[in-house]
Amino acid sequence: MFKLRYLSNVLVGETPDISKDICSFTRLNNKITSVEECKKSIIFTRNIWLRRVIRASSLRGLIRASAEYIVESISRATFNKNAVCSYLNTLHKPTCKIPLEKDNIEMFSKIGWVEIREGKIKYKNYPCLICSFFGTSGLKSLIEITFAKNSLKNFEEVIENVDIKRYLFSHQISDNKRRKLLLEMAKKNSNFIVNVSIRKPLLEKLYVKGESNIYRVGVSLIWLSLLPINAGLIRLGRFKSRGLGYVEIKYTRDTFNKIAGLINTSSFYNVTKRALEIIKSELRARLS
Ligand SMILES: [Zn+2]
Repeated sequence: MFKLRYLSNVLVGETPDISKDICSFTRLNNKITSVEECKKSIIFTRNIWLRRVIRASSLRGLIRASAEYIVESISRATFNKNAVCSYLNTLHKPTCKIPLEKDNIEMFSKIGWVEIREGKIKYKNYPCLICSFFGTSGLKSLIEITFAKNSLKNFEEVIENVDIKRYLFSHQISDNKRRKLLLEMAKKNSNFIVNVSIRKPLLEKLYVKGESNIYRVGVSLIWLSLLPINAGLIRLGRFKSRGLGYVEIKYTRDTFNKIAGLINTSSFYNVTKRALEIIKSELRARLS
């Protein structure tokens, strides 16, 4: 269990094209009053009742982006190799897809993620560590993130506290009208309780290749991925360059004890150290 707090305003929202469509048939809130005004805004993600929400999948995306950054950094520094598939292309999109496409076999075998011997394929770093835990097309995520309220599992949380601000963007300065874009944001200091769990798959060895089990590797991944998030390096949602999306994810004492217990230590600094060792050893098994 973790406590999520927004340290800045956050916008997890739709593109202006979508708000344009939604604006034409609904009055969104009492702050954006006219359809014309709504068309100039970027609005928050809505649920089926058109209430503003943050979805658990957005949060998983945030933790995934951070985990990708950490694992790729460790791999490059330790093994001088790529370890995360989204770092193989400039679009930063996952390349591991299940089943393995013929067109990709050559590419993955060139970088040593699969080995072909006597016509048989050995899967080493395929799917990569990140896709194994966070899922990819054809593979369900082992990591489940939910919001906790009244001990119920929720995949979305309603945002009550909203701030609407007008921003002028550089591309609009050339626009004679100089109309400002309205951003609908969840307010700084909003709080949520978030549960992170790791599902046990049928065959663990398809997901982890080293000596540690999926729980040890999974909690190490989650622990390390919180560091760049809490430092503000990896942010949530849109307009991060405008200072939005800085969030803090803090563990509760019970959660800390659980994580520390799983990786056999008790002090904060040793948790980070042990988590790094576990990820390195898992990467060694995949990349050597
Ligand atoms: Zn992958």
